[in-house]
Amino acid sequence: MAHPRSGRPRQSCSTWPSQFRARLGVSELPLPDDADLRQAAVAFGLITPGTAGLSIGHGIIVRQDCLRDATLIAHELKHVAQYERLGSIPAFLQQYLAEVNQHGYPAAPLEQEAVAFAESEFPSQGDPAKL
Ligand SMILES: [Zn+2]
Repeated sequence: MAHPRSGRPRQSCSTWPSQFRARLGVSELPLPDDADLRQAAVAFGLITPGTAGLSIGHGIIVRQDCLRDATLIAHELKHVAQYERLGSIPAFLQQYLAEVNQHGYPAAPLEQEAVAFAESEFPSQGDPAKL
């Protein structure tokens, strides 16, 4: 079956990674437990009270008031795919943080890939703060 907007074949949920996890409806995104990651998240401004969602490995976390934002969910799922492509959480974070450091958060190539994917799936539905 084709996606109603993009026209591309729709992927069955049965092919999604069995490791996928979602924590939906948090009031505010938590900072990482790991001290280095927490410091990086704060230093780069990646997790703020305005952050709507984030992904770590096969997991996504979405703020309560953003649960109906399909563009945000698509964006975070693209990051999950990027984690898989790069092979691990450390490999993703190493590349992602290097790109954010070099290009800035919104212009980082992995970020732009996620933005472009979400826009292709849900055109012109805004650009909420997300990681
Ligand atoms: Zn992102």
